[in-house]
Amino acid sequence: MLPYSAGEAFSFQEFCSRILRDFEIARIGGAFLSLWGLALFILFCWGKLMIMTIFSKIIKGEIPSYKIAENDQFFAFLDINPMMPGHTLIVPKVEIDRFFDVPDVFLQNWLAFAKPIARAIEAVVPCDRVGITVMGLEVPHAHMHLVPINSADDVNFTRPKLKMEPAAFIAVQEKIVEALNSQV
Ligand code: 5GP
Repeated sequence: MLPYSAGEAFSFQEFCSRILRDFEIARIGGAFLSLWGLALFILFCWGKLMIMTIFSKIIKGEIPSYKIAENDQFFAFLDINPMMPGHTLIVPKVEIDRFFDVPDVFLQNWLAFAKPIARAIEAVVPCDRVGITVMGLEVPHAHMHLVPINSADDVNFTRPKLKMEPAAFIAVQEKIVEALNSQV
């Protein structure tokens, strides 16, 4: 809207001062809206960070992990409270709580991603085989446990977990990664 009405008598000076006044109002209004926009943006980012699962934070590198492998869809790393040395978690990068809510195409790719990792674990950790367990009772981000096992008790998640020092984690991580990289 023009800062004057048709037929209104005004001086050039008056005209300029009205323009300047309206410009000032628009400037203050703009700054006010920008501040609100910024506040909403910060709130949005903070909310996103807060609701991210611990596994998403690990995938993003915000929380350290003993990484085994990753591709564009999945991330594999050692469980921090292992049932057995080499106990590995495989997590889809997309954040979905329940395993059976994961789309079929991911399920298929998930096993294909897990297979060479399971073979690498089997090659370097003394065990009869590698078992797969899915629970998700603790972390609401679908994940698969790959556990080297000798008996069913090795996947009895109610028994006390192993306590491993960082050096022991690193040693088993390096062996699994090496075995994985040496596969054709
Ligand atoms: P679930 O949700 O299947 O019952 O178990 C979650 C698993 O994630 C547990 O075995 C637990 O030790 C593991 N876990 C929980 N928090 C972390 C973490 O911050 N880092 C790693 N590496 N593992 C975790």
